[in-house]
Amino acid sequence: MAGRPRMTLHVGDITRLEVDAIVNAANETLLGGGGVDGAIHRAAGPGLLEECRRLGGCPTGGARITGGHRLPARHVIHCVGPVWRGGTAGEDELLESCYLNALRLAVEHDLRTIAFPAISTGAYGFPQDRAAEIAVGAVSGVLARTPTIEAVTFVCFSAAAATPYRRRLKTD
Ligand code: ADP
Repeated sequence: MAGRPRMTLHVGDITRLEVDAIVNAANETLLGGGGVDGAIHRAAGPGLLEECRRLGGCPTGGARITGGHRLPARHVIHCVGPVWRGGTAGEDELLESCYLNALRLAVEHDLRTIAFPAISTGAYGFPQDRAAEIAVGAVSGVLARTPTIEAVTFVCFSAAAATPYRRRLKTD
């Protein structure tokens, strides 16, 4: 029986999504930055920064969870993606561990709908196609063994950024 696909693609602003958790592409301080991090903090309001301050940072590849504050999403899962250094500094594994750690936190908090941005592909310079391969691979592996997660949305900020996902998510 073919149900609704559990991995979907959305082109737009992740801060607008009404899901159990949106994922942030943060830096190790968790104190805000540019790109999607800045957009999430602006939309969530100052309460998010207050909560992040109490976390005391997060290592690259790790994930931390907070409330969503003024966002339509109930929670924010903050991931710290690797800075691209040419591909031989463990970037692939660190990016994969962001997705795995984020989904582990989601399961621990009984969150069923999660939206990811393309972690590391902005200021951190990770090649988009390679990042999409890792993102889709990691998420599909977790979904196969985690029935409680209902839907994972990959959010791309532009139609061009969606192309590497669209190819990989096309299953029919
Ligand atoms: P990083 O430092 O991990 O590279 P960035 O925020 O610079 O993080 O970029 C990560 C990705 O998020 C990029 O593909 C960027 O285009 C995208 N992005 C930026 N703002 C938003 C937003 N509001 N919603 C969804 N994606 C966004």
